[in-house]
Amino acid sequence: MNDIPFQLNSKLPQVGTTIFTVMSALAAEHQAINLSQGFPDFPLDEQLLTLIGEKYKAGLNQYAPMPGVPALREAIVEKCRLRYGIHLHADDNITVTPGATEAIFAAITAVVHPGDEVIVFEPAYDCYIPAIELAGAKVISIPLKGPDYRIPWSEMTQYISPKTSMIIFNTPHNPTGTVWEESDLAQLYQLVKDTNIILLSDEVYEHIYFDTEQTASILRHPQLAERSFAVYSFGKTFHATGWKVGYVIAPKELTKEFRKVHQFNVFSTHTPIQHALATHMQNPAHYEALPTFYQQKRDYFLELIKDLPFTFTPSKGSYFQVVDYSAVSSLNDLDFAKKLTIEAGVATVPVSAFYSRGSKEKFIRFCFAKKEETLLAAAERLRKYFAL
Ligand code: PMP
Ligand code: GLN
Repeated sequence: MNDIPFQLNSKLPQVGTTIFTVMSALAAEHQAINLSQGFPDFPLDEQLLTLIGEKYKAGLNQYAPMPGVPALREAIVEKCRLRYGIHLHADDNITVTPGATEAIFAAITAVVHPGDEVIVFEPAYDCYIPAIELAGAKVISIPLKGPDYRIPWSEMTQYISPKTSMIIFNTPHNPTGTVWEESDLAQLYQLVKDTNIILLSDEVYEHIYFDTEQTASILRHPQLAERSFAVYSFGKTFHATGWKVGYVIAPKELTKEFRKVHQFNVFSTHTPIQHALATHMQNPAHYEALPTFYQQKRDYFLELIKDLPFTFTPSKGSYFQVVDYSAVSSLNDLDFAKKLTIEAGVATVPVSAFYSRGSKEKFIRFCFAKKEETLLAAAERLRKYFAL
């Protein structure tokens, strides 16, 4: 079953297989240590695993309520009160989704109309732009420049038009590891306060930030939160990316529109894990410890790579570190990442994959959400490869 007997009009002609799939497959093919696709290689909390088993055995295996299990949404209300000082309503403001990816897709589909313009900052996580294009809208992409990748606030008004319906941003940021500051939110507010623009804040790495007590979140800015979808992922927070369970926080009217799409896209989210999380989240110790847990990994990894022929600005958040390899190769980043996978046995992600029109910069991304022994083994392979 290969050829179809007619001309297919692709809705996403530019889209191929994601770079994460490509690099993980190449890593497997060449037995490379996989620091490409972002996923931890260490186990999750035993207590959480036990809880999940109990919920399966207790027979909680049928459809969950469309917006999510009530006890989990109440646990999210409490978490947001403690962490963000915001008072949410479980029925009006929270929807549990099969991963942040579905939340992003449903939010864009729900409120972006054909002909609208949607602003994204590049490098951008890969699922935003296809969703915007499927909604029939135009992508206005704003390239950010390294090494600090700050938003060019003073130039932003030129990108806004009466057709701008949404601005999408991500903090802590994948792949660059930058984090927004309070001043970014203040500038964003000045930009959108007299418009109908809806915001989509991708905060899946909300608990993974370094060298600071806390990071900016849209949820701590009441006037921005009232026009926003804020998206989170339990996969990141509980070291279980394969679960694909996340949630979206939004004001009542946006939640209503969101659920119109969500209910016909997936209807509901995996039931037993929602129940297990509802119980597990009664104790915030796990996520309170995450910044320190991941900062140790970042520091350990940076120490390991400090003599390698790369330059970098230490990641401030997320579990990624971007490095500049221009001192050792003139290859483009995709070819360099493939070469490193095949010849050095360490897989990374080329950062140009996060740009809709590519990028000529010589940057690759490492994922350091790994056991120390994995990071050490990868560094040893790289040292050997670069003859250090
Ligand atoms: N946004 C960003 C920035 C991500 O890195 C990821 C991770 N894959 C997602 C969204 C999607 O999260 P999930 O796996 O929960 O769908
Ligand atoms: N978020 C992960 C990353 O950036 C990848 C998720 C995926 O493979 N779709 O590596």
